[in-house]
Amino acid sequence: MKGVNYNWGMNTCPYCLSAVKQHKAGLNHSGSQRYECGVCGRKYTPVPQPHGYPIEVRQEALALYVDGMNLRRIGRTLKVDHQTVANWVNAQAASLPAAPLPTEIPMAVNELDEVLTFVGEKKRRVPRDQR
Ligand SMILES: [Zn+2]
Repeated sequence: MKGVNYNWGMNTCPYCLSAVKQHKAGLNHSGSQRYECGVCGRKYTPVPQPHGYPIEVRQEALALYVDGMNLRRIGRTLKVDHQTVANWVNAQAASLPAAPLPTEIPMAVNELDEVLTFVGEKKRRVPRDQR
């Protein structure tokens, strides 16, 4: 707001929509002016601060994390605190649907196992009956 309260005298409570008895009630954690409604008694922030980092930085951080870069390196690369990157990753992970649990071991895994065993024996070049 840079010292100019352009909302002075024209705040409206977002809950009860009353425009009277709106008074200042301190600042929130990011420094925005909070108001208390004298009609319904609730508090609100008419002009909240925008989020700290642009969405592009956040998406870039998530892309680097998916690529396998660690949190501290992402933080150094994008000049963002690594804990902030961790918060973004956790928030993104929480917004994803849960992975479905397999009900039985898929047949493809068994077949792949046999192929690997065969290749391993072939490399030794020892016939099965001479071991
Ligand atoms: Zn109200």
